[in-house]
This record gives sequence, structure tokens and C-alpha cells, in this order.
Amino acid sequence: MELEAHAEELASDLGVDKEEVRDDLDNLLSYSVPVEEAKQSLRRKYGDGSDSSASGATTKTIEEIGTGDSNVSVTVRVLTVGKRSIQYNGEESVILEGEVADETGKISYTSWEEFGFEAGDTLTIGNAGVREWDNKPELNLGESTTVERDDSTLEVPFDVGGEATLAELTPGDRGITVEAEILDSESKTIDGRDGETAILSGELADETGKLPLTDWEPRDEVAAGETIRIEDAFVREFRGVPSVNISEFSTVTSLSRDIAISETAPRHSIRDAIESGGLYDVELVGNVVDIRDGSGLIERCPQCGRVTQNGECRSHGAVEGEDDLRTKAILDDGTGTVTVILDDDLTSEVYGGGLEAAKDHARDAMDREVVADQIADGVVGREYRVRGSLTVDDFGANLEAAEFVEHAADPAERARRLLSEVQS
Ligand SMILES: [Zn+2]
Repeated sequence: MELEAHAEELASDLGVDKEEVRDDLDNLLSYSVPVEEAKQSLRRKYGDGSDSSASGATTKTIEEIGTGDSNVSVTVRVLTVGKRSIQYNGEESVILEGEVADETGKISYTSWEEFGFEAGDTLTIGNAGVREWDNKPELNLGESTTVERDDSTLEVPFDVGGEATLAELTPGDRGITVEAEILDSESKTIDGRDGETAILSGELADETGKLPLTDWEPRDEVAAGETIRIEDAFVREFRGVPSVNISEFSTVTSLSRDIAISETAPRHSIRDAIESGGLYDVELVGNVVDIRDGSGLIERCPQCGRVTQNGECRSHGAVEGEDDLRTKAILDDGTGTVTVILDDDLTSEVYGGGLEAAKDHARDAMDREVVADQIADGVVGREYRVRGSLTVDDFGANLEAAEFVEHAADPAERARRLLSEVQS
């Protein structure tokens, strides 16, 4: 075990700050104190009453475990096992994360040791540390933890194995298996921990919805149009929505079956959509009540793509901006408002012309605002069905539109109305 892992275990066992424990431990080890002796010494220093924590663990059910516990022993069924490599101060460790359950409930765990258990196994875990994460207890399996595999199978009221639909995923899920179609995938270079790293960024869909996807170890199977099975994926929050992550430990296999992808997004009221904190694919219907500044013919920084104000980029100062089209429309459905952002293509549609037409228009009028004015004349006061990705943050609720269709002229809506007339 690495220093970080020892410090993590001690901090968790003793309920004290990890940085402090690590510094103490580092100090003792630098005087060549054997690691177990150093840990015992720190347990005494930070007042672990049980002295040897191995004998201090009480057997509990999962329901009984609280954030005040320091060490427990439990008999559980493993629901999920996710492998992940993490980095602390330049040291890399591979950890296992997931959930275990008994008849009374389920709980997340982190294992710093490779105990060799798999989803479905029934285990008796001795002397697991308990730590608090997000106001909930979590099990911490370290060097002083024992894991014994039971021959009998503990029946638990939870699904074993991590198979999930996209709609079921929530940030923090580990060891997940999904089957989905890749809608879109593009290569990106990011500044990773080992310098520039190539990743794939995209979008996937199944019968229940769509989510963003990141593949940290680019694979050929993760290409637009492919249907794949991903085992051992983890889920992170990305701009308020769950995002599926494929790591070096994930297994990706191509599937021959087709997945019936949902063609529509769930429709919500604006208030409900905002209260959800963010939705990757949502449909809203409302009236455009205004368009915001920064709409129409705009200029972007050639280095970062941000919209410039009076030729100034927030990051890069005075720059020679590049012309682009964008619309920020305020949509109101009576329950709330969101800012709908239309990209250059959707803006061209509502403006009735492309970038060159907009530039000519502005030049002739000797005023760039005429483009925004014409867009406003076209959309303000009308009702639209909007589909896209909603993010909610301190700056408000923004929906990046993939579809922006006037409601009265919307064939999908007309069909819906017609159908309801026929049925009534
Ligand atoms: Zn810039």
C-alpha cells in the first residue's frame, strides 16, 4: 500500500484530517519507522480508543451503520465492482469501488486492496473502516480489513451486477454495464495528468434516453453508429447531468443487435426542468418573450471561441474577432424561463440567411444590431418547441438547442393534436 492509502485508511479510521495524518506518517517513515509501527503510533496519538482497531470492529447490518462508526464487520452481497486508477501527489493507485448490500440496505465501498471479489459474491468483511461521504457512511476496505467469501448466497432486495439503462444512471455509480448505440464520437486532446492525452467525447443512446460519453482510452468500437456493450463504466456529473465514462479498466464489445433508440425527449415544464438541476436531453414548449444581448452577428475570440465584447476576450484581451451567428432567446411557459441558445445553423434559420447575408446586411445598414433586430422580429411573441441540453448554474438556466421548431407549424405537434381529436 502506498503512503496515500495508509493515510486515507488512518484518517478514515480515526476520523481526522487526511493531510495531517499523511504529514505525520511521512515524517515517521522518513525516520525509517516501520509502517505498521508508525500507524499504531498515530492511532495512539489521535486517540483511537480501541488501540488495535481490528478488535474494535462491531458486527452490524448495513442499516445500522452510521457516519459515527469507525470500524464495522458486515456480511454482504457484492452488487457492483468498478476498478479505477487514482492519483494522489504523483502516486498512482488502483482502487475498487462499488456497492454492497444485505437484507437491510446497500452501501458504497472503496477498496484499497485487491481482495479478488466479484459482483454476486457473498462476503464477510471484517474490520472495514467507515467514512463519511456526502453525509452518508461508506465502507473503506484497507490493509487491516479481512474479506472471507461465503459459500451460501445472501439474498438481497437489489439488482446484482450493475446492468442499467441510461435513464437509471446517477453520478457516482461504479462498475456499471450498459448497452447503447454511439450517436456521435469525436477525438479530443486534453491536458491530462500525463500531459496531452487523446480522449473520445461523444453521445450515446438506448431505449430510455441519451447521455454524454467520455472514453479515456480511445477505442475503435466507440464510433458513431456502433452498438456496444460497456462493462465497468463509471458515472460522473458533467454540467449537471450524468455522463458515462469508459476507463482503461472497462470492457467494450460490439453488439450485433439493434437498439430501439427513443426518438423523442421527455417533455417537462420549465420549472420542473430547472428544479431537476440539469437534463441532457429535454423538450420544452414556451413563448419567446425576448432575445438577449449577444445575439445576432457576434464576434468570437479566435483562440478560445468565447464571444468578445468590444473586441476584448475575457481571457485573451484585445483580439481580432471572428464573425459568427448566435441567438439567445428567452423562453417562457408560465412556470419559468430559460435562455435558449441557438447555434449558427439554427440562427440562420430564424434569421433567414447565413453568415455572409448577415454581414452584408450589417454593412449596408452600417449597424451590426440589425441582424439581432430581424431575428427578434421573427421569433418574439411566438410559441416554440425546443429540444436540447439544459444546464443550470449560478448564471441561470441555459438550454443549448438541437431543435427549435415553431409550435403551430410543427408536424409532430399537428400529428399529436390530430390524434387527440380523433380519440376524443
Ligand atoms: Zn479568448
